[in-house]
Amino acid sequence: MNQDVDTNLNTVSVPDNFHQVFLQAQKYVRNYFSTVQSDPEKGLIKFSDERYILVRASSMSKEFFDMMAIMYKDRGEKEARTLSFNFLFDIAHSIGKADAKSFFKKMKVSDPIEKLSAGPVHFAYTGWASVKIHPLSHPTPDENFYLIYDHPYSFEAQAWLEEKETTDFPVCVMNAGYSSGWCEESFGVSLVTAEIECRAKGDRHCRFIMAHPSKIKDYISKYSKKAYIKYEHYNKIDVPEFFKRKRLEDELQNHRTHLEKLVEKRTDKLTATNKRLEEANIALKVVLKQMEQKEKTDKENFLINIKQSIMPYLNELYETNPSKGQQVLLDRLEKNINQITSPLISKLSSKYLNLTPMEIKVATLVKDGTVNKDIAQILNVSLNTITSHRYKIRTKLNLKNKNINLRSYLLSLEE
Ligand SMILES: [Zn+2]
Repeated sequence: MNQDVDTNLNTVSVPDNFHQVFLQAQKYVRNYFSTVQSDPEKGLIKFSDERYILVRASSMSKEFFDMMAIMYKDRGEKEARTLSFNFLFDIAHSIGKADAKSFFKKMKVSDPIEKLSAGPVHFAYTGWASVKIHPLSHPTPDENFYLIYDHPYSFEAQAWLEEKETTDFPVCVMNAGYSSGWCEESFGVSLVTAEIECRAKGDRHCRFIMAHPSKIKDYISKYSKKAYIKYEHYNKIDVPEFFKRKRLEDELQNHRTHLEKLVEKRTDKLTATNKRLEEANIALKVVLKQMEQKEKTDKENFLINIKQSIMPYLNELYETNPSKGQQVLLDRLEKNINQITSPLISKLSSKYLNLTPMEIKVATLVKDGTVNKDIAQILNVSLNTITSHRYKIRTKLNLKNKNINLRSYLLSLEE
């Protein structure tokens, strides 16, 4: 019996040139799984003192997809399926890598084919599927790595078949993930697996192609030309990508960083423009202020000119004992000059009329209709002083000897 078992490779099917290596692996793994220790009281299952856990196969396949479809109902069936697909692939790929590492150590092997050999046997002993590697495979530790293989009795396909539910997509994603993880660890090269035919969708077998991510599409395309299934169908095969989500998140993060930089740049530009506008605004205000000042000075100069170069001669003319007719003309002339200058005076400070601060106070009170007695009281001076100030004001305003009411004249300056 022992002799027969040791020469009969019955847990995997491999090309002849791999036969001997896999037979060694089968011997090792069979021995490994021959010592089982089950202790439910401690919640323990151990093979060769290595702890294992048992999981219902359907919970990790058909029913897992169903659960995700419910949880992601709002995102639609396709997204729920993609999520399940990527999630299970990543988990299985990681488990495959970890198991492989542990076995290399136990078996003390270093050759890639030797490393690979325990994988399919371990796979069979742990209940995932049996493995059939096709002769066209050429597993090499470089980017040309190519493995074409079937997983008869895949636990995933079976979960669907038992529910009698047909699918339009290959379902053995953990099978794909685990085997690519194990091989990746064995050959030290990035590998992905696509299931190109699946019993769950009505194909004759669950068939996989494993290759370097940069070559897998080419291999699928080449294989499809020889296969009986139409090329279009192969073209739609989704190649699982280890940690696709991470790549997408990285891309998203890069995109976000790029956007943030753009916003920052725009903000800097806006700030600079704002600063320039503020500066221009300040400059404009200065110019306006200067223009206002100039206008005021011009008006004041104009008034001073009239006051100094016209009014004295007009007053002299009055002194020359003019005739009645000339008097009328002089009055008209003075009235017109006053009409021209009064709107300007009203806007100017009284200092240009040469009034002293005290005279300004008196003039303001007169203008407001305050009688002399009250003004004297308010300013705390004698009535005579007020009379004297009024006289001086009339003189400065050219009202001396004229029948013009001081208050009316002051009011007219304000109009
Ligand atoms: Zn399948």
